Amino acid sequence: MLNKKHINNFQNILPKNYVLSEPGDCWAYGYDNSKMHVMPECVLFANNKDQIQNIIKYCFTENISITARGRGTGNTGGSVPINNSIVLSLEKMNKILNIDTKNRLVVVEPGVINKDLQDKLYNLNFFWGPDPSSLEYSTIGGNIANNSAGPRAVKYGTPRDNILGLEFVSGTGDIHKTGVKTSKGVVGLDLTRLFTGSEGILGVLTQATLKILPLNKSIKTIEITFESIIDASEMIISLMSQPITPYTLEFVDSESIKLINLIKHNHYDQNTKAGILLEIDGEDEYIDLMLKKIISIIKKNKLKKITVAKNPLEVKKLWAARKSLSPALQSIGKYKINEDIAVPISNLTNLLNKLEEISKEYNIKIVNFGHAGNGNIHVNLIFQSEKEKNSEKTKKCLDKIFDLVLNLEGTISGEHGIGIIKKNYIQKEINKETLILMKNIKNQFDPKNILNPNKSI
Ligand SMILES: Cc1cc2nc3c(=O)[nH]c(=O)nc-3n(C[C@H](O)[C@H](O)[C@H](O)COP(=O)(O)OP(=O)(O)OC[C@H]3O[C@@H](n4cnc5c(N)ncnc54)[C@H](O)[C@@H]3O)c2cc1C
Repeated sequence: MLNKKHINNFQNILPKNYVLSEPGDCWAYGYDNSKMHVMPECVLFANNKDQIQNIIKYCFTENISITARGRGTGNTGGSVPINNSIVLSLEKMNKILNIDTKNRLVVVEPGVINKDLQDKLYNLNFFWGPDPSSLEYSTIGGNIANNSAGPRAVKYGTPRDNILGLEFVSGTGDIHKTGVKTSKGVVGLDLTRLFTGSEGILGVLTQATLKILPLNKSIKTIEITFESIIDASEMIISLMSQPITPYTLEFVDSESIKLINLIKHNHYDQNTKAGILLEIDGEDEYIDLMLKKIISIIKKNKLKKITVAKNPLEVKKLWAARKSLSPALQSIGKYKINEDIAVPISNLTNLLNKLEEISKEYNIKIVNFGHAGNGNIHVNLIFQSEKEKNSEKTKKCLDKIFDLVLNLEGTISGEHGIGIIKKNYIQKEINKETLILMKNIKNQFDPKNILNPNKSI
């Protein structure tokens, strides 16, 4: 528990107005998109690494837990301050420090909003690969901590593929620098990849050097529909087995199609059982040739209908159907559990068929859609009441889904992470010995376990 002495000491470490302790001021910093809420006793802001170092050194001495926070859009409770943690908000550390197109890199502070960076880079004909759908709100620090990515991860990867180096303060208050400013480098252990996706349990990120790429502004958008899941899965495999890597490759199942038809006035034809939204990107002079080639590959597979968007309005319409899904789920049930499993794409048919069987067995509606090119499917379990959502039956159903995913050589989280919400399931995927090794690594970074304790591993 914090007392007045701690609040006073934080006020001495930080500038005026950088310490909140009134419940009314702190409330909004206690939740994330998991909908969990824990009232923080105190919220701190920082605008440089020295302040963060001083805060962590003080917390280390006083045994105070810290939860780093970007913008609280995470889905698993990662920035919810359990264990009497104080919240350390990085929202004021939002400067883009250097854009270096010659060396294809940018240096940013952790609180930069993803979209603000993308907008700056767009004007220079560059981009940073990771594009979570939350990019207008989420921070680069949060994206790195959760290894978050979106539709174009199928071609341009996740943060783990797009970071050159990091600077962070560990749980002892020491400042560490990892990585290089070159596209090659093999000195020491790869702490950059270890830190990325570590959900705020190893350190507080204070700076990141990101790998950027020249932008292909020409994009072609294609919708393909199918009469069966098998046909859609075969198409996904076929598209991923040829040289034009899709820019995006999104999938919707038959329940998703029913839902989209309901709110988008029969966007899909009758008897459509699955759909794919495919995009390719390329240079202006080659894009039509690439389109011709990809269409010839598509047509070699079994399909119901193919639509190529002819103008930006049609592109918008196709994406509007896909993007309408998440909010539309509320129209069929007030409560949902949104899983984000991933399997190798050759196992997608098996996954989707078995999910249908599980849905019938437990009498729970399951709506599946997502980033099929990565085998990353959002499995949405829909409920009419909170009681049903938290029931034993639902737990058993989830157990069965995760067992299925692991049997298909997949992972229980493709992009949301473990946080608090999925902590009970991690031992399904990671064996006892490896989990102990991970905890020992955490102990090296954070010997007093003050950084996001009891989350992730
Ligand atoms: C509408 C919506 C769409 C979404 N779409 C996607 C999607 O397409 N793909 C996807 O992967 N996710 C998606 N998400 C989830 C979420 O947006 C991502 O996890 C995002 O990266 C979180 O960023 P944030 O700034 O909000 O971080 P927060 O939620 O505040 O924090 C997330 C985690 O990062 C840690 N953290 C934050 N900053 C730091 C730091 N500086 N140092 C150390 N640890 C830190 C926190 O402690 C926490 O564990 C979506 C969420 C919403 C609400």
